[in-house]
Amino acid sequence: MSEEAQIREQMCRLAKSMFDRGLTGGASGNISARLSDGRLLVSPTGSCFGFLDPARLSLFDDEFQQISGDKPTKEMPLHSAFYETRGAKTGAVVHLHSSHSVALSLMPEIDPENMLPPLTAYSIMRLGKVKLLPYFMPGDPAMGEAIHGLAGKRSAVVLANHGPVVAGKDLEAAVYAVEELEETAKLALLTRGANPRLLSQLQIASIVEKFDVEWN
Ligand SMILES: [Zn+2]
Repeated sequence: MSEEAQIREQMCRLAKSMFDRGLTGGASGNISARLSDGRLLVSPTGSCFGFLDPARLSLFDDEFQQISGDKPTKEMPLHSAFYETRGAKTGAVVHLHSSHSVALSLMPEIDPENMLPPLTAYSIMRLGKVKLLPYFMPGDPAMGEAIHGLAGKRSAVVLANHGPVVAGKDLEAAVYAVEELEETAKLALLTRGANPRLLSQLQIASIVEKFDVEWN
């Protein structure tokens, strides 16, 4: 099977897995992946993660000009902003409307520079510091501009009152990272106000050093 055929299949399989577990419902959420020659596969507009068709994914060249497939997601600027600013570190991007991440984005005590409390080592390893971005109107090009504004420094962001956008080196990494974000947001809500024992600054610093986490 060609690389392109493999990525088409894998994208639809991972999207269905997320849909089946309630991580994004209806026609919400979108996903993209870069092929080794620079072309980009993106989920179509209005498509449901449970029923993506490998043959109908939108295909773009390495300058974001569409080559074939259905019309892409309206949230394409969220994806292109990550590919443009993070270069070879980004092979895939996933955006969900996942409940716990959205709920946590509404809480007044959240630090927008580091939105997840340090509850587990894996959230730090997989996500680095997660940036909370403001609320934007659907389709507002300022969404992509806000990601550009991070200049490639963050692999994971949450759009307030909307949902997470996470980049990874490939599809599996991006999907596992967004799942880690959603689970950590859930833990943060479960322990909110209960004075949980957080990882110490020293413990965080050791994780950042050992796993070369993007933290600054
Ligand atoms: Zn969205």
